[in-house]
Amino acid sequence: MSRIPLVDLAAAHAEVAEEVEVGFKRVLAATAFVGGPEVAAFEQEYAAFSGVRHCVGVANGTDALELALRAVGAGPGSEVILPANTFIATAEAVARTGARPVLVDCDPRTYLIDTEAALAAVTPATKAIAPVHLYGQMADVERLRASGVAIVEDAAQSQGATRHGRPAGAGGIAATSFYPGKNLGAYGDAGAVVTSSGEWATTVRTLGSHGGLAKYRHDLIGVNSRLDALQAVVLRAKLTRLADGNARRRAAAARYDELLAGLDVVTPVTDEGNEHVWHIYCVRVPRRDEVVTRLNAAGIGAGIHYPVPVHRTGAFAHLGGSFPHAEAAATEILSLPIYPQITPGQQARVAEALAAALEA
Ligand SMILES: *Cc1c(COP(=O)(O)O)cnc(C)c1O
Repeated sequence: MSRIPLVDLAAAHAEVAEEVEVGFKRVLAATAFVGGPEVAAFEQEYAAFSGVRHCVGVANGTDALELALRAVGAGPGSEVILPANTFIATAEAVARTGARPVLVDCDPRTYLIDTEAALAAVTPATKAIAPVHLYGQMADVERLRASGVAIVEDAAQSQGATRHGRPAGAGGIAATSFYPGKNLGAYGDAGAVVTSSGEWATTVRTLGSHGGLAKYRHDLIGVNSRLDALQAVVLRAKLTRLADGNARRRAAAARYDELLAGLDVVTPVTDEGNEHVWHIYCVRVPRRDEVVTRLNAAGIGAGIHYPVPVHRTGAFAHLGGSFPHAEAAATEILSLPIYPQITPGQQARVAEALAAALEA
């Protein structure tokens, strides 16, 4: 029997192959490879999709976070609050601005940033809180706004998600990643910042193009972080199918909920008010490492997002701290294959293999 991957990029490509080929030819004919009309069109389309006024394409999600943080003023001498259980990029982006990362624990049910812990960590030096919309559902941004500091949302896993009908970035600024495996994935690295603030959007665009918006004008010490036209072609083709893809992910998640109901696993919880886009379907199991090994041996691409909390990595061990919920989750969570094209038959095989792995 064929292997069931964690993410099926070949199936995703098959749906857009023709459009991508036509678009690549268009870019090759125009030879506008960095920025240009294809990128401008994608930025407009993604801003509209996201329900915000501005989208600035950048080179990857980590840059998007760094530039968004810099736009709200994070830098040396300031602090940024973020969850201990996230992909390392969130912490890297904070550190790269020169601000001090301040970690807080997660909610043990949803794995999202512990809202009250984040609010309690605010000091006069806090420039921003960076909640991560982990696995495809949004953190409680409304409540975090009560802090009065800027909310820089890590929306790398949540393209299309909403909370009480509002998308990421709508009330502030959000960074996203178009790494190939994300819900909206490019064919290489890419990312974007979305915001309805014209001022923040301009700062991000300026920082991302060597600190100036006109050639050889450099008002700020910026970086080179721009979106390539070939990536914009892929993103434009895939964007038209994103809402449908997210709906298919929701159906797949509901199917897993049913299939796993009788097993000794904790299935994911969607927070009230959230429209989840299921970037990851994360369950919690006993003897996790053994279960992952057995699943992989059975041809099921199981993953772990993430096995090491930020404060336990070599890079950020100096931050110290103890975050029991994040630490416990890191040893018990595992991610099952999920993507729009996954079939009920494949999901049944995943559930059977998981049941067998748990019994073994
Ligand atoms: C993917 C991801 C990023 C970083 O994106 P890159 O494009 O790989 O730099 C940041 N945060 C989270 C939560 C992610 O999943």
